Parts: sequence; C-alpha cells; structure tokens
Amino acid sequence: MIYLDNAATTQVHPDVFEAMQPYLALQYGNPSSIHAFGRAAKAALDKARAQLASFVGAYPQELTFTSGGTEAIHAALFGSFLASGGRKHLVTTALEHHAVLHTCDFLRTLGCEVTIVEPAADGRIRVEDVVERVRPDTFLVSVMAVNNETGAVLPVTDIARAVKEKVPTVQVHSDMVQALGTLRLDLHESAVDFASFSGHKVYGPKGVGALYIRKGSNWKAVLHGGAQERERRAGTENVAGIVGFGAAVHRLHEHWDAHIRHIIGLRDAFWRALQGLPGVTRNSPQDAVPSILNVWFEGVRSDTLLMRLDMAGVAASAGSACTAGSLEPSHVLQACGYPDERVRQSIRFSFSEFNSEEEVTRGAEITRDIVQELRR
Ligand code: PLP
Repeated sequence: MIYLDNAATTQVHPDVFEAMQPYLALQYGNPSSIHAFGRAAKAALDKARAQLASFVGAYPQELTFTSGGTEAIHAALFGSFLASGGRKHLVTTALEHHAVLHTCDFLRTLGCEVTIVEPAADGRIRVEDVVERVRPDTFLVSVMAVNNETGAVLPVTDIARAVKEKVPTVQVHSDMVQALGTLRLDLHESAVDFASFSGHKVYGPKGVGALYIRKGSNWKAVLHGGAQERERRAGTENVAGIVGFGAAVHRLHEHWDAHIRHIIGLRDAFWRALQGLPGVTRNSPQDAVPSILNVWFEGVRSDTLLMRLDMAGVAASAGSACTAGSLEPSHVLQACGYPDERVRQSIRFSFSEFNSEEEVTRGAEITRDIVQELRR
C-alpha cells in the first residue's frame, strides 16, 4: 500500500507511540490529583506544553490542550464571540476548513454576522480584501495559515498587522493545523491572538490538539466544569495523547531541516513522474507547502480515479477528509474559480516522512497508467 493522504492524517511515529505507552497503562494518574501519581501525570503535561511552546514560539501558559483542531477552532471563535463586548461581526475566508465555516454558520444562528472574503482571480486571499471588510464592530478575523486541499500559504501575519492597524480592537485567529508540520512558526512574531493546532497531522495521535491564546487576549472559556487547563478547558486531560503530541512536535523541531528537505524531494519526485502525461495541471500554487500537491487530471472523474487507485493500493483523496465521503465538490477549488469540471477531476496527494521517493514515484506511475486507461 502507498499512503499519499497525509493531509488527512499521518501515521503515528514509533518514537511518539513509545513516549505515550506508559501513560496508557502504568502511569494512569489524574494530573489534577496532588499525590505522586497525579504529580507524575502533571509533569508529563508540563513537558508536552513546553515542547509545543518552544516549537511554535509561544509561552507554555498561552497553550491550552484540546481534543483536536476542530475543538480548538470552535473555542477560538466562540470564546472570542463570548468576550466581544457586544461586537458581532466576524471576517473569514472562503478557503477555510469546515471546522471554521460550519462554526461560523452556527454563530450566525446566534446573531453573529459573518463576512466571507473570496480569493482574487489567482486563487489568493489579498490582504487588502480582508482589511476592507473589517469594521469597528468586527470582533474576529479568522484566516488559515495553510490550506488543507491545495497547500496554499495565506499571508496571515500581514493580514493580522493590517487589520489591527485599521481597527486596533480586532483580534485574529489562524487555523494552523496544516501549518504546524510545514511552516516555521513564531507566534509571538506573528501578530495573531489565537491559533489552532492538531496532533494527528504531525505524526502524533488523533483526538488531541491545542489552542494558542495570546497573553492578554479577550477570550472566555466555552467548556466549564473542573479547573483544568487554567480554567480554559474543563475536563480531565488526555494525558497519553498530549504526551504523544508533545513528543511529535519535539521530534519535528529536532529534525526540521531534514524533514522539510525530504518532503520537498517527495513532492518533486511525484510531480516529475507525472510528466509526459498530457492534460495534467497543478492546482497547488508554486509556493504551496511541499506536503500537499493538488492535481487536475483532465477528463477523468476524481471519484472513479480514487476508487481505481485504492484498488491498486494507492490512497489519495479528493479534498478534505471531512468531505471526501460525500459527493460534494471541493468548496476550496470552487472558491479558487475553477470550473465545475476541473473541480470534479482533481485529486490531492499529500506526503509524509514515512514515504520514500521510490514509493511516491511508483504511486505517480500507477496514477499515470490508470488515468491513461480511464481516458481510453
Ligand atoms: N483545519 C484544517 C486545515 C484541517 O486540515 C483539519 C483536519 O482535517 C482540521 C482543521 C480539523 O482538525 P481535527 O481533525 O484535529 O479536528
């Protein structure tokens, strides 16, 4: 099997699995307990928080662990709405993940007004287009850092600085789920107030993520109960998951340059192996992150191609994992202005450190053969 769907989820790295194991069995203390069992679990949480903080350029106290990217996004949007002091306008982009877009739909039912910025003709979100939509009653601007379907990098820091220059009270959230393993992040330098992360896109386990809340931000907790996570997210922590998340980002931090070089090599090898096949166009921009390559195969339906690839042992997808099970065309490719036909004939391949160049080349050759056969 050749797994080229790493933007949907990555394999847990063996070092991560090893780090987690004690906390799934013998180290079962509740981090809120004050006895030795509890203190051991609390120390593990502190270590993981420090590992993530050092990787993303934040203070450990600014990070709250969640059950994943979706929960972090939800908490960022809802928590800032609750603290908005009556301001009810939110600005986001048409390229966002459904975790943002559907949370915005829910906020609308509570009286929030949401403005969606569409990309320009080149598929990019322009800083000035976001700034133009920001008003004195805007409480939040939410812009993802890396698009999960095309790998496009959005100018989050420029947007954050520019919108705050226009309306100093506005806060900025960024969905950085796909950026965590692909872009060097420095949150203190970034001018964003909130950022969302997920463990399972960076060789960590599923069901764990984190929300960055910049010191001094306007934000209210959404989940109430115990005093965990400095009263920002009640509920006994997923200790093993958090330990795994910490170990995963620590590994990436240590091997960053080699990791990125490897992923670039994979993407380039895959694209090279597709050359010579007519009617193949890259939907991913040239400066997209290297882990994601979205490709249009003219005249070939993506659902048919994906099924044939699966039968041939190659796993890819036609966009985000959340919509792949449905027949809905990708809202991201639609927003980029591609005609319906192109949207329905496009596939996302995404790479990880577990792939080898030989394997991705083989994956591309299999794809090429199936495309040729389907066209005949
Ligand atoms: N945001 C983006 C850009 C994603 O790719 C994903 C994962 O599919 C999410 C949010 C949701 O993260 P999680 O699966 O951890 O809830």
